[in-house]
Amino acid sequence: MNPIQEQPADTVARLRATFRTGRTKPVEWRTTQLRRLRAMLTERGADLVESLRADLGKSPAEVQRTEIGFTVREIDHTLDHLARWLRPEPAPVPEHLAGATAWTQYDPLGVVLVIAPWNYPAQLLLTPMIGALAAGNAVVVKPSELAPATSAVLARLLPEYLDPDAVAVVEGGIPETTALLAERFDHIFYTGNGTVGRIVMAAAVQHLTPVTLELGGKSPVFVDRDADLDTVAARLAAGKFLNAGQTCVAPDYVLTDPETARALEPALARAVEALYGSDPQASAEYGRIVNERHFDRLSALLDSGRVVTGGRGDRATRYLAPTVLADVDPKSPVMREEIFGPILPIVTVADLDEAIGFINDRDKPLALYAFTESTATRERLAAETSSGGLGLGLPLAHLTVSDLPFGGVGESGMGNYHGRYSIETFSHRKAVLAAG
Ligand code: NAD
Repeated sequence: MNPIQEQPADTVARLRATFRTGRTKPVEWRTTQLRRLRAMLTERGADLVESLRADLGKSPAEVQRTEIGFTVREIDHTLDHLARWLRPEPAPVPEHLAGATAWTQYDPLGVVLVIAPWNYPAQLLLTPMIGALAAGNAVVVKPSELAPATSAVLARLLPEYLDPDAVAVVEGGIPETTALLAERFDHIFYTGNGTVGRIVMAAAVQHLTPVTLELGGKSPVFVDRDADLDTVAARLAAGKFLNAGQTCVAPDYVLTDPETARALEPALARAVEALYGSDPQASAEYGRIVNERHFDRLSALLDSGRVVTGGRGDRATRYLAPTVLADVDPKSPVMREEIFGPILPIVTVADLDEAIGFINDRDKPLALYAFTESTATRERLAAETSSGGLGLGLPLAHLTVSDLPFGGVGESGMGNYHGRYSIETFSHRKAVLAAG
């Protein structure tokens, strides 16, 4: 049988049959899969470098850092700790059961579906898959059709390196994903936008399948008047314009007082130039917008404020300059949706109270960032706002800490993963009591 022509129902049945044999449960099988995946990334990394250049104009250094290196680190961290994470955990028993022993153990769930987006099309497919395999599951992975070159590379390489009866790649767009979602899975892990997140959750309801939704939204940055603005600008520009702003935890907009905003504007312009030179279009380090639809959507946001730097694009090559907009009205189009592109609006507020109110008036973000020297301000932001993660002084970096859970809250998602949190997500923690 040619797996390429397999129907979703047959794929799931084939993987479920493998799971039922118990083959995926021993820790040796799991670690072998992770080692093979690591070998794939090191031996065939060049294929991904090429596909990610084609899909998103990513530079080889960026691919190494944010796609291959990131994933290899997650594998190594998991290999180092897996046996310890899986250890049954004893629980004290109450007096009326004296002599009995009680513990919890992690059971794999069965067959897991991972649906990935296009912006980090390798990392965001492989990292959940690492967790699902480490927890002893069979996995169907569905790459994004909007990053077609990377989808093709993953579909070609994964069956070559991993147990093909326990890991299946299904390529395709809406019809293929819809067909997959009609099947019964034991967990669905979806990364992407909230509209499709709702479709995924509605499909999961039919089979009472638990879901993890890794969504997005507008991640604000509060810049305090005491912050060192050259450092702020350098770190903000690096976090915002990575992958041309197409990062789920990218700083979406800046909240600061009018005086700090005025000083931050030229600092941001200098930071962009330091990163990409005076003509970012000619920089090999600067990425491209994924497709024309997103290019047009982003171009329409450019007149939401006064252009500090950037502001122009080239539709034919999907180049959109790293752009900073000042004097942005909170009701303007750029503030009404997640930007997901290289446009950084600056919105002014009077003080910290107004900033906290501004944040809390809106959907709970995937990340909140703050640059401040004040411990009291840090504590207030941590205590008085809710977000998937909180980054103090450095955007994006929290998700590179494998010992921190990565996920959203409210509109930015539900559930989390990375490191041992992936084991929690892709396992059932079973309660066991043995009478004395
Ligand atoms: P996308 O368009 O690639 O969609 C994601 C997946 O959903 C794809 O595999 C696609 O085939 C599938 N899909 C699309 N429409 C569908 C439908 N009608 N039914 C079933 N499946 C469907 O990616 P996207 O949603 O444009 O990604 C961008 C969004 O994802 C942003 O909001 C971003 O913030 C968010 N995101 C979140 C994270 C995170 O880790 N929390 C990471 C990356 C992106």
